[in-house]
Amino acid sequence: MNCIFCAIAAGDVPSASLYEDGRVAAFLDIQPLAPGHALVVPKKHAAKLEDASPEDRRAVMDAVAMLAPILCKETGMPDATIAIHNGKAAGQEVAHLHVHIVPRKPGDGAGPIHAMFPAPQKVPSEQLHDLAVRVQGALSRRR
Ligand code: AMP
Ligand code: ZN
Repeated sequence: MNCIFCAIAAGDVPSASLYEDGRVAAFLDIQPLAPGHALVVPKKHAAKLEDASPEDRRAVMDAVAMLAPILCKETGMPDATIAIHNGKAAGQEVAHLHVHIVPRKPGDGAGPIHAMFPAPQKVPSEQLHDLAVRVQGALSRRR
């Protein structure tokens, strides 16, 4: 499989590496949206979050939680947006699961994820409830 993040995780393609362990690699994004923009990936290929093993998902999120405050401190930013484009329709361009850590500061112009959408929808609470019940049902059928 021709996957750039598999190649980076294997050390076959160079990156500005931040961290690695048996399950995870973290490196700086080659086209940063802000100073310190980093990506955390499982070493084993998985396209989306649900395709990774529970152990890999945990290891990725542990690495994100460890790295985010360090990236913020080193770049002088107070906070970070932590995001996954989980699938093509959600903006994923590299089809290997990766968590973006983007250090943020007030007034950086990017706003919250709500700014990605035209406007929040106004929906009746029954509609929210109906969907919640359907999801609960689907979850209970999985167990
Ligand atoms: P996404 O839209 O979530 O799939 O984002 C993919 C990200 O990977 C983008 O922010 C790219 O700048 C980044 N990227 C692509 N190739 C490389 C690379 N070789 N090294 C580091 N980052 C990369
Ligand atoms: Zn891959």
